[in-house]
Amino acid sequence: MKLSEIPVTQVAGVGEKRAEDLHRLGIETVEDLLTYFPFRYDDNRLTDLKRAGHGERITVRGEVFGETSIRWYGRKKSRLSGKLMVDGLPITVIWFNQPFLRDKLLPGKTIIVAGKWDRRRLQLTAERTLLDPRRQGFEADRLAPVYSVSGSIKVQWLRKAIHQAFVQFGRHIEEPLPEALVRRYRLMDRAKAMYLLHFPRGWEEGRQARRRMVYEELFLYELKIMALRRRIRRESRGIARKLDRKRIEAFIDALPFPLTRAQRRVVDEILTDMAKEEQMYRLLQGDVGSGKTVVAAIALYANHLSGYQGALMVPTEILAEQHAETLGKLLEPRGVRVVTLTGRLSARQRREVLRDIGNGSAHVVVGTHALIQEGVEYHRLGLVITDEQHRFGVKQRARLREKGESPDVLFMTATPIPRTLAITAFGEMDVSVIDEMPKGRQPVETHWVKPDVWPRVIRFIGERCRSGEQAYVICPLIEESEKMDLQNAQALYEELTKALAPLRVGLLHGKMAPDHKDEVMRRFAAGDVQVLVSTTVVEVGVNVPRATVMVIYDADRFGLAQLHQLRGRVGRGGGEAFCILVADPKSETGVERMRILTETVDGFEIARRDLELRGPGEFFGVKQSGMPEFRIADLSRDERILEVARADAWELVSRSDFWERKEWAPLHAFLKKEGLDNPSLD
Ligand code: ADP
Ligand code: MG
Repeated sequence: MKLSEIPVTQVAGVGEKRAEDLHRLGIETVEDLLTYFPFRYDDNRLTDLKRAGHGERITVRGEVFGETSIRWYGRKKSRLSGKLMVDGLPITVIWFNQPFLRDKLLPGKTIIVAGKWDRRRLQLTAERTLLDPRRQGFEADRLAPVYSVSGSIKVQWLRKAIHQAFVQFGRHIEEPLPEALVRRYRLMDRAKAMYLLHFPRGWEEGRQARRRMVYEELFLYELKIMALRRRIRRESRGIARKLDRKRIEAFIDALPFPLTRAQRRVVDEILTDMAKEEQMYRLLQGDVGSGKTVVAAIALYANHLSGYQGALMVPTEILAEQHAETLGKLLEPRGVRVVTLTGRLSARQRREVLRDIGNGSAHVVVGTHALIQEGVEYHRLGLVITDEQHRFGVKQRARLREKGESPDVLFMTATPIPRTLAITAFGEMDVSVIDEMPKGRQPVETHWVKPDVWPRVIRFIGERCRSGEQAYVICPLIEESEKMDLQNAQALYEELTKALAPLRVGLLHGKMAPDHKDEVMRRFAAGDVQVLVSTTVVEVGVNVPRATVMVIYDADRFGLAQLHQLRGRVGRGGGEAFCILVADPKSETGVERMRILTETVDGFEIARRDLELRGPGEFFGVKQSGMPEFRIADLSRDERILEVARADAWELVSRSDFWERKEWAPLHAFLKKEGLDNPSLD
C-alpha cells in the first residue's frame, strides 16, 4: 500500500469539501496529511500548582464554583472573573475580552485553563481555556500540536483527522532509511517518529521525533544530490586535455598585477579539473572585487590553448559587452578572438557571429542567455563559464553540462553563500572560494544617514566629482511600484542635474531602450558623465575604476546581499571610496540591515547575518532560487544533521553494490522517481 497514492478522502471524516480545503494546504494524499507537521505545540500539560512559581505560565484543571462577575470598559473590552477549585485550592481566574464564556462557566463544571500565574493573589490570567477536557482528547493534559491552517480547516479538526489517519493507515508506513543508519544514530522508526511529531508526550520525545524526521528529509535530499554527483563523476565523457602549462604561466606572469594567493589557488583547482578526463563541475565564489574575471580569463586561455572554444554567460547585455572588452584586452594580443552574442545584434551581425562560432574562428563567446538558445552551434565547445547565474536550479545547471561535447563548467558568483546553503543549493558541484581581496584595496567607508540630510549628501557628491571622481546614485525599482519608482528616479535625476551643474548627470533605468542605455553607460564609463542616477542595473559586475561614491537612496528597500553588491561597485581603482545609505527604515530588521552594512564589508559575514535575518528560503530572493523547500528541516538550525546526512549519502551512493542490494530498494525507488536511475543501466 502506497500512502502517497491514497487520496485523503479515504480518511474517515474527510469529505469532498474538506478535501478541497486540505488541497489548499498542499495536502492531497494520506502521506501528505501524515507529514503535515505542526509548527509548534501548546503545552496543555497540567501543572502542580503547589510548585508553580510566581509569574510562570501554568495549566490547571479544576471545578468551577461560585458566581462569576464581569466588568466592561467601553463596548469592546471586558474582564470576566470566576472561581476554580484546583486540587483543593480555590483560585481566581480572569478572562479578558471573552464575555461569551460567562454562560458556560456553570458551577460544578470541570475545565482546563492555561495562563499566567499570580502566586501572591492566587489568580490566573487565562490565555487558553478548554471547556470540555474529556472530549478534547488531543488538547487536554498534553502537548497539543498547532498547525498552520486556513479556510474551513481548524486546528482542532485537523488534529482529529491526522489522528484518524494514523489509526487507519499507521501500520502501512514504511521505513526508507537503511537499518545501519537508524541504528548508528539511534533514530526512532519512521511510523513512531511521525506519530510522535504530531502528538509527543513530552518535549524530549518531540525532539527525538523531529531529529529523526529532519535526518530523513536531509538524507533523502542529499542522496539525490549525491547520486547526481556520482553520475557526473562516473560519466567520464569529459575532455582529457593537455594543458600548455608554459604558455599559461607566461600569460599569468604578463598580467598587470600578481595574482592573490586565493586567486592562484582557485586557478590551480580549475586547471587540475580541466586536465582530468571527467567533466569539471565547479562553483567559484568570490566577493565583489575579489578578481574573478581574470581567473575566468586564465581558464578560457588554457581552454583555447588545448584546442577548444569557450563561452562566458552573463546576466545583462552591458555586462556582456564589458566582459568582452576586458577579455579582449587580455586575450586578443595572444591570438584569441573574442566575440559577443547578445539579443541586440542585428540579424546580419547575428548571422555572422553565429557563423564564426560555428566554424571555430571565434574562440571565446561572451553573451547573455542567448548563448544557450536554440540555433547556436558551437565548434568544439570545451569550457562554459557563467557569471552570476546562481538562480539557476540543479536542472538548468545540468542542461549547461549537456551542451556540445560535455564541456567543463564553471559557475561564478559574487554572492557569498553560507556553507549550509552552498552545499544544499550547489551540492552536486565542487566549490572554490576566493577569500582574499587584491592588495591595497581599502574598505569602502560606509555611512547610514536619514533623508533629512540629503542636501549634505548632494554637496558631498559635488565635492568628490569636481575633483575628478565619479558617483552612482541608486534608487530602487520594484515591479509593484514601478511607475512611482521611475518618477522618483526621474525627479532625482532632475534635482541632481540642477544642483550639481556644470557636472554632468546621467539617468539609467531598465525601461530605457537598449541603445540609449548603452550610450549612457558608455559615457559614464568614459568619464564624460560624472554622476549616474540609476535603478539597480549596475548591480552586477560593471567596472568603472574612477567611481568612488555610491549613494543608495531608500536603501532599506534593498536586501542586504544586494546592498553589498552595489557597494562593491565603487573603490575598484584602489584608494578611498564611500557608500552612503540614505534611509529611514520603519522596521527593526531594516535598522539592523543598515547597521550590519556600516559594521562590516566582509561579504561572508553579511551573508551569514542575512541568513539569520531572513531565513534560507528568502536568502537568494524567492522561489526560482534553486533552493529546495524543506518540510521540517531548518538549515539555520540543522546544520550538523545536514553535514552528517550528506556524508552518509555520499558513502552510500559511492558503494559499488549500491544499486544491487535489495535492502535499499526504497532508496532505489526514491531515486528513480527523481529521474536518477541506476547509471550503469543507461
Ligand atoms: P569580481 O570578482 O567582482 O568580478 P573583477 O574580476 O572585476 O572582480 O576585479 C575587480 C578589479 O580588481 C578589476 O579592476 C581587476 O583588474 C582587479 N584585480 C583583479 N585581480 C587583481 C589582483 N590580483 N591584484 C590587483 N588587482 C586585481
Ligand atoms: Mg565580476
